[in-house]
Amino acid sequence: MNDYSLDPDNWDEFQNEAHKLVDFIVAYLKNVRERKVWQEIPNDIKNEFRKKVPMEPMELEKLISIAEKKIAPYPQGNIHPRFFGWVNGTGTPVGILAEMLAAAMNVNAGGREHISNYVERQVLSWIKTLFDYPTESSGLITSGCSESNLIGITVARNHFADSIGINLRETGMCGIPKITIYGSTQIHSSIIKAVELIGIGKKQLRMIAVDREFKIKLTDLENKINEDINNGYNPFCVVANVGSVNTGAIDDLIGIRRICDKYNLWMHVDGAFGSLIKLSEYKDLVNGIELADSIAFDFHKWMFVQYDAGGVLIKDNQAHLNTFSLRPDYLESESRGLAAGGRWFSEYGIQLSRGFRALKIWMSIKNYGIKRFGNIIAQNIKQAKYLGKLIEKEDHLRLMAPVITNIVCFKYIDNSKQLDEDLVNREIMIKMHERGKVVTSSTRLNGEFCLRVAITNHRTHMDDMLVVINEVKEVGEKIININTP
Ligand SMILES: *Cc1c(COP(=O)(O)O)cnc(C)c1O
Repeated sequence: MNDYSLDPDNWDEFQNEAHKLVDFIVAYLKNVRERKVWQEIPNDIKNEFRKKVPMEPMELEKLISIAEKKIAPYPQGNIHPRFFGWVNGTGTPVGILAEMLAAAMNVNAGGREHISNYVERQVLSWIKTLFDYPTESSGLITSGCSESNLIGITVARNHFADSIGINLRETGMCGIPKITIYGSTQIHSSIIKAVELIGIGKKQLRMIAVDREFKIKLTDLENKINEDINNGYNPFCVVANVGSVNTGAIDDLIGIRRICDKYNLWMHVDGAFGSLIKLSEYKDLVNGIELADSIAFDFHKWMFVQYDAGGVLIKDNQAHLNTFSLRPDYLESESRGLAAGGRWFSEYGIQLSRGFRALKIWMSIKNYGIKRFGNIIAQNIKQAKYLGKLIEKEDHLRLMAPVITNIVCFKYIDNSKQLDEDLVNREIMIKMHERGKVVTSSTRLNGEFCLRVAITNHRTHMDDMLVVINEVKEVGEKIININTP
């Protein structure tokens, strides 16, 4: 009698199927521009995913065929050259191969002595160099900028407690005095979530007004800090936007650093996508990013690496370790053998078991070179600026915020004024999704609904901006014509 295993009975057959799937994948990417960006999932396809749990095996050939026909055709669409919704990266061809190799190795990158640690340390050291960050700083590859923000703000909080002689890991939040954290009204939801999760509470997150470029007003920030101090609060951290989610705005980093120094506060940068501008000819836009105590960023947005992959850098390595390191008996390290490896990455974050995310980042950077990423980031910014110019020339369109980086907020204007503007623009967005030519998302600026184009896409051409304009106008006119008596 044979032992059970999950390996194939016939490796040649497996290899044959694997090759066929790779051929499918290559064609899938090569022809992406010819397909719709997004399409609705038909009901008979949805039914496939309501079937009962299989107790018996399915042939690999049949299984792959189902995946190709019923899964692959219905993606979110962010690999398409005209996907501009939210802030989503495109992925890279070499990243696909890296994911396959990482899956084959199936290492646990939480710690121990094996190659993934070297790859991750190298990726982090490259990023430190690119951000002009000190080599002694610590870092971690994360699931994304949400986790990175959570880690940065947690270290900031614990570091503050430490500075007043309180071990927050022992006492918990009930052991420390009232603390407050600051950011603009434009901060990302992941900051709010982090503040809620670590027991600070949203009320203690002071959201400061912005100027017409959507940058935090420094005088308002400083006034609020003083007011809080006078009311017995302990300000501990300012979160700076480097590429705000709504409009791509970048706060005055040098100004924020000055205030942080004056009041002894931690400066955390949320640079999910904007921090990568540092790689491009527009790098002056993010001057001062190196002054932050911690930087959160993503590889899966503007470095196009496959989901998911983010990163965080913390200047004070010891503060980082003090917050997260925990090595119980069953995780003791040795000086030689597999249990060696110095500091484990699990000592710098939440996950113990971790995937080998570093490989797809490492292979992407090696394959393309940093200059290429810089050129594409600059290209996306130029596309956004061009789109902004096109919008300004159109009677029926209005630009809603200055185009600082890669985000364009605008809306369709019905000059007859008979229909509700928010409703018309919402319908334009949904209709465009259904037509599948262009995907945008939406946001609200000063309470007004607007269409939002965010370009973090290495497949986009300059001409695609004309398609955006034409599509919005065409769909807008149709909606107006149908709905006006
Ligand atoms: C996307 C984003 C985040 C959250 O990052 P995830 O990778 O989605 O977790 C945080 N801040 C900003 C500005 C973002 O754009």
